[in-house]
Amino acid sequence: MTDISDSKHVTHWINGKAFDGGQAERRGEVYEPSTGRVSGTVDFAGPAEVDAAVAAAKAAFPTWRDASLTRRAKVLFRFRELVNEHAGELARLISAEHGKVISDAAGEVARGLEVVEFACGIPHLLKGGFSENVSSRVDAYSILQPLGVVAGITPFNFPAMVPMWMFPVAIACGNTFVLKPSEKDPSASVRIAELWAEAGLPDGVFNVLHGDKAAVDGLLHHEDVKAVSFVGSTPIARYIYETAARTGKRVQALGGAKNHMVVLPDADLDLAADAAVSAGFGSAGERCMAISVVVAVDPVGDALIGKVRERVAKLKVGPGDHPESEMGPLVTRAHRDKVASYLDGGVAQGATLAVDGRETPVLGGPGDGFWLGPTVLDHVTPEMDAYRDEIFGPVLSVVRAGSYEEAMEVIDANPYGNGTAIFTNDGGAARRFQNEVEVGMVGINVPIPVPMAYYSFGGWKASLFGDSHAHGMEGVHFYTRTKAVTARWLDPSHGGVNLGFPTNG
Ligand code: NAD
Repeated sequence: MTDISDSKHVTHWINGKAFDGGQAERRGEVYEPSTGRVSGTVDFAGPAEVDAAVAAAKAAFPTWRDASLTRRAKVLFRFRELVNEHAGELARLISAEHGKVISDAAGEVARGLEVVEFACGIPHLLKGGFSENVSSRVDAYSILQPLGVVAGITPFNFPAMVPMWMFPVAIACGNTFVLKPSEKDPSASVRIAELWAEAGLPDGVFNVLHGDKAAVDGLLHHEDVKAVSFVGSTPIARYIYETAARTGKRVQALGGAKNHMVVLPDADLDLAADAAVSAGFGSAGERCMAISVVVAVDPVGDALIGKVRERVAKLKVGPGDHPESEMGPLVTRAHRDKVASYLDGGVAQGATLAVDGRETPVLGGPGDGFWLGPTVLDHVTPEMDAYRDEIFGPVLSVVRAGSYEEAMEVIDANPYGNGTAIFTNDGGAARRFQNEVEVGMVGINVPIPVPMAYYSFGGWKASLFGDSHAHGMEGVHFYTRTKAVTARWLDPSHGGVNLGFPTNG
């Protein structure tokens, strides 16, 4: 079991075991956000560790690529069972380092497992096409082949689920994988690596490399890395996309978000208020699908805010492992302070502080934890920093709009396009919204429309660089190359030399 004590030391997982290459030149501190204490350290990879991880993955590739589909599926099924058995332990590890409440951490493990379950169907998913007699006695077919060593670089906010958007599909397709998880909450990925080993995955197929920009750059510039999947903030996503493309790699880079929830006058306001509070403050707003902006279409604003305030007043904020806690702390002190700066900043720019999260009591007392309670900023306008920036914390901004068209203009003008939702009882309005909105994932009376594993996850605009979304069939296509074969088997009637371009007859 992975250590969560004070002396925790997290290191890389390379070639089926904990890395034993001696003392790391650089290390980072891992925090317990609910107390503010340092709970351990994590090794940061330099060039030698990057080379070791990629070399292990490269060496494992020829055998894994040729493993039968049945064998791959069996390992995936076993891995699925093991993650399920250890879901509680994983959730506690995540909660201790991220801060989110344990039930929420268990939810991310469950959603990640859905991708493993999707990948268990790999024999079906990798079926190519076959056309008999494309020309006289000539057949054509396609085969989907793995790329080789692929890398995943993931954010702090879902230390289990986001990596699980990537590696189950990549590995099922026959690739070998190097994961560079967030240095802020690195332990879950190591526990996952142990479970892969227990499931019978050959050494070197799944590796974990800890670290920061140096590790990422090492992977981006490594000639043996064939593809990079990234999830994180927009500036880094853009950098990853540009750099990986320049170094000749296939790349998908999912970026940040500013998700709007439109509430039309005919909406069920209790449902909308429940949704705004759940989607705004779950996981302290540190979700890429969190609702960060409610667009209240006149005249619902005041009534909706009243209902939101009633609900926020009842929320229990406290440590992730406290049985009554519904919302935990933020991930680091620096992030907490940055998020809190939008409260005074918003008011200075003309917003009203409808709920001030700095005054929220904390179960068991705040101590030195990274606390900020649920905050509602009303009368926010698109020129304000609180609107323009991705705050990524428990701050729900409310923008008032005079009409559906005005609400749509606000969303259209926003650079992000990850998720959005509309609350209405008008099917025609909802249908128009789903058709018009320039956003990749849409909820209709559903606030966090995270697609199922068999649909793919991804936003539009500045929320995604590249053309492949994560998991689902888009994941299978991202992690494979299609080869088209045209075949003619010797036949007594072959037709002699012909220098013309092949046409079909
Ligand atoms: P981040 O961009 O700071 O870090 C993501 C990863 O990139 C980490 O592994 C980190 O070590 C690495 N990294 C950080 N700085 C780097 C640099 N300069 N060069 C190279 N690598 C670097 O993101 P975060 O703070 O960990 O996560 C929060 C962000 O992720 C938010 O913006 C959120 O919206 C986004 N996110 C997006 C999605 C999505 O599906 N679109 C999902 C989850 C999170």
